[in-house]
This record gives sequence, structure tokens and C-alpha cells, in this order.
Amino acid sequence: MKPIRCPKCNGSMEQVVYAEIEVDRCTQCHGIWFDSREAEQLKTIEGSEILDDGEEVVGDRYDPSAKPLSCPRCRTPLLQMLDIDQHSIWYEKCVKCHGIWLDAGEFKKFKQNFSPNKTSKSIKRLWGFTP
Ligand SMILES: [Zn+2]
Ligand SMILES: [Zn+2]
Repeated sequence: MKPIRCPKCNGSMEQVVYAEIEVDRCTQCHGIWFDSREAEQLKTIEGSEILDDGEEVVGDRYDPSAKPLSCPRCRTPLLQMLDIDQHSIWYEKCVKCHGIWLDAGEFKKFKQNFSPNKTSKSIKRLWGFTP
């Protein structure tokens, strides 16, 4: 895959691999670009929050974005999404290639929003099944 630039600060991105899943992380603001479904896969993998090595304060400085961002892969304007569960996280999503952008510190929260226990609880609720 060809190198991409950070959609937030235009810094250079480095490829980091965890559990055979490759993501792109900005060397400057430490935001992470996840291609389609990578974030979904990684949030279920134990220890994957290690990928999110940036300081949350750094992420906050870039969030929310002052200018509209475009997808580093396909240049489609990114949509701002809000994930509210235990934490509210503003993140950016490409509707075309389904990649998502998380600022430094956000993947950790994103993961906590979907902790395994919580997921099973909401699935039970969904199916209307009592243990
Ligand atoms: Zn950056
Ligand atoms: Zn895209």
C-alpha cells in the first residue's frame, strides 16, 4: 500500500502491525487511520490499545478538526461521527472506503466503549434473553 499523509496535520504516517492487522499511525499527532473494519477487528483483540501510543492531550489539540478533512486513501470528505457510550468520541469516517480516523487516545476509549462484557450485555438485551 502506498504511504499516506495524516489527514489532520499532514504529518507522515508509519505502518504499525498488531495481531497481523496493519494500521497507519501519524508520527506527529499520533492519530491512527484504520482501513475498513480494522478498528472493529482490533477493538476485540486483547492488548491492541498499545497501538494508541499518543497522549490524549495531543489528540485533543487536533480535535475537533477546524477544517473539513478528506480521506487519506480516496480523498472523499470525511464525516464527523459521534460515539457515545462510556466515553464520547468524535471521530472521522469515510463513507466510501469505510476507513476511520481516531485521534491520539481515542482508540483506547473506542475500545472501552466496546468492552467484551458490555458487548455481551447488549447482545443479551437485544435478543431479550435472560441468563
Ligand atoms: Zn497527524
Ligand atoms: Zn476513503
